[in-house]
Amino acid sequence: MPVIDSHTHILPKDVKDNIHKYLDIDSTFNTLFSNSESISTAEELIDSMDRLKIDTSIILGMGWNDNKFNEYINDYIIESGKKYPERFIPITGIIPNGDNEAIYEAERCVTLGAKGFGEIHADAQNINIIDKKKFSPYVEILQSKNLPIILHSSEPVGHKYPGKGSSTPNKIERFVYNFPELKIILSHWGGGMFLYELMPEISSSFKNVYYDSATSPFLYDQKIFQIAIETVTSDKILFGSDFPIISQSRLLQELHNVIINDKDKQNIIYQNAKSLFLTN
Ligand SMILES: [Zn+2]
Repeated sequence: MPVIDSHTHILPKDVKDNIHKYLDIDSTFNTLFSNSESISTAEELIDSMDRLKIDTSIILGMGWNDNKFNEYINDYIIESGKKYPERFIPITGIIPNGDNEAIYEAERCVTLGAKGFGEIHADAQNINIIDKKKFSPYVEILQSKNLPIILHSSEPVGHKYPGKGSSTPNKIERFVYNFPELKIILSHWGGGMFLYELMPEISSSFKNVYYDSATSPFLYDQKIFQIAIETVTSDKILFGSDFPIISQSRLLQELHNVIINDKDKQNIIYQNAKSLFLTN
């Protein structure tokens, strides 16, 4: 069964070798990396995919604040996608402030082959995800190509971590209502949002919403895989690790521990990602 990891991050070797320089250049980079050395280059990600027999990784941008840094990282993501076309699907970062330079960059990336935008780190970017006006130009670009957005999401409860932010279920609901036709992938189980799909009014408006399992072992008991399947079905769940913050093997281990049904497994580790990222 082929395996697609729907949530990974890569950065250029230059950034990895010069963390201190870039801490001063981009405030999101500072929030996420001032106490972390977890940076992987494209080649390091390929190595770990080879070891773990992962066929394809979705390589995501992040929610940067500096236009030039965003462009630099997006170039690296797009070039890595071209260098390893069988292994990587590029998703580029956006700065959803509505400025012309930021919108132009989003258009540029899609023209160059980006298959979606994300991961959005709204709090680090001083944006509220319920701000429809700010997000509209980027959503238009995505919808014209039927491409998804990936939102970092978090719980309103539990332990804090760098970049946790406040894209919590109450705001996510508003975001989805603002853009009901947009394909939306909520990272980190949507901060628990999927449980509210037991409410009929939520499930009926969340037809285009998906959930990924990024960093699940840091947040939830492994039972969450089965609970999510029972709640929203395996059609809406994506295996995503958040490598290099966590090893893909920990996620795969939990998934294989908990999920018994082969069809569910296939949906989560391959089929859903294929439909979202490989059919455009
Ligand atoms: Zn995240």
